Amino acid sequence: MPDTVLPNSWDARAKATSFFGFTDLPTIDARGTVILERGEGSHVIDVDGNRYLDANSGLWNMVAGFDHPALAEAAKRQYDRLPGYHAFFGRMADSAVELSEKLAAISPFDTAKTFYTNSGSEANDTMVKMLWFLHGAEGHPAKRTILTRGNAYHGVTAVSASMTGKPYNSVFGLPLPGFIHLTCPHYWREGREGESEAQFTARLAHELEQVIAREGAHTIAGFFAEPVQGAGGVIPPSEGYFDAILPILRHHGIPVISDEVITGLGRTGETWGCQTYGFTPDAIISSKALTAGYFPMGAVILGPELADRLERATRTIDEFPHGFTASGHPVGCAIAAKAIEVVVEGGLIDRVRHLTPLFEKGLRDLAAHPMIGEWRGKGLMGALEAVMDRDTRAPWPGHLSVSERIANACTDRGLICRPLGQSIVLCPPFVITESEMAWMFDRMREAVDSVHAEVRPLV
Ligand SMILES: *Cc1c(COP(=O)(O)O)cnc(C)c1O
Repeated sequence: MPDTVLPNSWDARAKATSFFGFTDLPTIDARGTVILERGEGSHVIDVDGNRYLDANSGLWNMVAGFDHPALAEAAKRQYDRLPGYHAFFGRMADSAVELSEKLAAISPFDTAKTFYTNSGSEANDTMVKMLWFLHGAEGHPAKRTILTRGNAYHGVTAVSASMTGKPYNSVFGLPLPGFIHLTCPHYWREGREGESEAQFTARLAHELEQVIAREGAHTIAGFFAEPVQGAGGVIPPSEGYFDAILPILRHHGIPVISDEVITGLGRTGETWGCQTYGFTPDAIISSKALTAGYFPMGAVILGPELADRLERATRTIDEFPHGFTASGHPVGCAIAAKAIEVVVEGGLIDRVRHLTPLFEKGLRDLAAHPMIGEWRGKGLMGALEAVMDRDTRAPWPGHLSVSERIANACTDRGLICRPLGQSIVLCPPFVITESEMAWMFDRMREAVDSVHAEVRPLV
């Protein structure tokens, strides 16, 4: 590819002037970049006219597809009226107030208060600072440790990366001190020989009790969890997990934060992932689908107790000294209000529920393939995990990059999906049609077949 690239091609221009995040450079050296020009429904179209079904909804967020007229219209109307503002000094756009009311109404809380950010990472950072601030103001300055889980993904800022349970953050010298990662609740991978799923869940609850006993509850600021781990490879919790750990956290007065950046706004078939798993957290972190991906925006949604405590803490120094310039951006708020209308009130969540059996059948059928060890998922988020040996669950040698090969073989067939570890993630837009979904699984099967034939002789 590189020697056929013209010096003024989009590929050459992108590489000369732009950085890509989370991108394997040898892969784009070999295969080139994909530069996109427009979107249509669940498809994106690149500058050379190639069409791709984006089975990752961009990065989980473009749930209403790439050309939803009502969302573009909401943005245009707001741009004509008040194109930008902040939420400092007691000033705030009316569209921000309206969105907060909408979020309170669809939240699992009786009453709720929202603080806006521009991303999910910033929302998690903000939540941690809120906890540190309110514990300090309540006379517990030592209550600072944050509990999360292995394989968790909470973002990339220094604090949210410290919460993230991925080994790659060691290149930044992270996590910072005071961030503890509990065992990832993935029974298939973390369960021990002869251990039942119920025993596995009980072991994780016991681990939590031990960590609290070791650290002292008076040092723990909060517990953060994604209802279904997303960027960790789509990992639903083991059976009974939240029912087992929540009473322990409650008993010790440790706030529970549900990071719903992926699961929020319908992905699991309910408005919030915590509803899918039957628990009510103390606060919710939202982003990604909050604006259906049409604007960068994040939100910390506090339930009544944390909202009151933050309010009281703020009284001690007369302000909460935190905020981003574009927090509560009026255009983002107008789009988010419309996205909630389209997704929650307008029937797209019903569509998630309607499509889920078809989606699960596609995953289950592929999981019978000799190269696939497990399928997992909830609602319209799913993953297929490649294994070299289905009995021992031994992974393929890392240097073979099997999941990258499968994803590349999909891209060659016009399907965008994402490799994560040795799994392939699928999280299509909620507007995907039944025939597009069938097409997606057909291409995926061809890709898995061709990569299997390619790598089998290499081991
Ligand atoms: C994507 C993600 C984040 C980070 O959001 P950004 O907008 O990329 O900063 C945080 N938590 C979860 C669960 C996510 O999936």
